Amino acid sequence: MKIKRLETFSNEYVGFVRLTAEDGSSGWGQVSTYNADITAQVFHRQVAPWALGEDALHIDALMDRIVEKEHKFPGSYLRRAMAGLDTAIWDLRGKQQQKPVCELLGGSPGWLRCYASSMRRDIEPHAEARRLQELRDRQGYDAFKFRIASECGRDRDEWPGRTEEIVPAVRSTLGDNATLLVDANSGYSAQKAIEVGRMLEDNGVVHLEEPCPYWDLDATKQVSDALSLDVTGGEQDCDLVIWRQMIAMRAVDVIQPDICYIGGIARALRVARMAADAGLPCTPHSANLSMVTLFTMHLLRAIPNAGPYLEFSIEGADYYPWQQELFVGDPFAVTDGGVTVSDAPGWGVEINPQWLERAHYQVSETG
Ligand SMILES: [Mg+2]
Repeated sequence: MKIKRLETFSNEYVGFVRLTAEDGSSGWGQVSTYNADITAQVFHRQVAPWALGEDALHIDALMDRIVEKEHKFPGSYLRRAMAGLDTAIWDLRGKQQQKPVCELLGGSPGWLRCYASSMRRDIEPHAEARRLQELRDRQGYDAFKFRIASECGRDRDEWPGRTEEIVPAVRSTLGDNATLLVDANSGYSAQKAIEVGRMLEDNGVVHLEEPCPYWDLDATKQVSDALSLDVTGGEQDCDLVIWRQMIAMRAVDVIQPDICYIGGIARALRVARMAADAGLPCTPHSANLSMVTLFTMHLLRAIPNAGPYLEFSIEGADYYPWQQELFVGDPFAVTDGGVTVSDAPGWGVEINPQWLERAHYQVSETG
């Protein structure tokens, strides 16, 4: 099943990929969000040349080949672009076999619990607590993530006292039964993270994400060793060698690869398997309602070490105007605090043709 044509449809935020095989069958995928227009350039320059004419069914071999051929470029953009190829291949395979991707991965379609994930730090603690409470009452969520510290903040808070105020505010508003998660986005030194972590434990928070600069695995390990709650991380990491190291040293208690940052499903699966072998759960990063959350839904319905919930962004048109009207219908309809993986073939979603018409179009194909 040779790859004949690779097309991208992109703007600054979102980039979809259509892969067409030599028999005319096709599949849809997505490069990672943000600077997706630049990623689409990388896709046509550094991914497509190695993929055209190759067998679409040997995904792992193809992904490794691209990494080797582009070994002078070990960074994020190449992996973000590779995710577009990988995820289009999975859709193609699903459509050929008339199965949803989760079934190709050994799982099944069905409902999946979400945690309601806030992206905002500009919000006052009690307003955030009320917002989460309204979402609980309207959509049935029982798990919630909110933001503490300041992004790469070197121990400074977004404003003085915000973290100390928001944690008890959310707990008292949502009550004892709510599962609470927080994200520090690389905000703390190990010492400060441990101090804040004790306050989090006193408030029953179960998940402290990216407490220290994410590249400082030793600092992160100090925090996870000192605290009983789960220290989690890995969303930025796209190098499988670093993943192996992070898991071997048990820097985190829960791994959080992002399927689009890491280079697609095949590479995310390798990391999930490394974690499974080490007894660690996998709760991927999926922070917006583009296809990355759909990919993550299928993965979580399939892997044996799936964490207890899907990260599900609660931000709407005011925060993420670019994620509106990407699809025909709504693949992310929430019922009882969860979403449902459909039994439709592939990813089970149709990209909005009007969105595609407005996007920047590029094509690479075999001669
Ligand atoms: Mg995060």
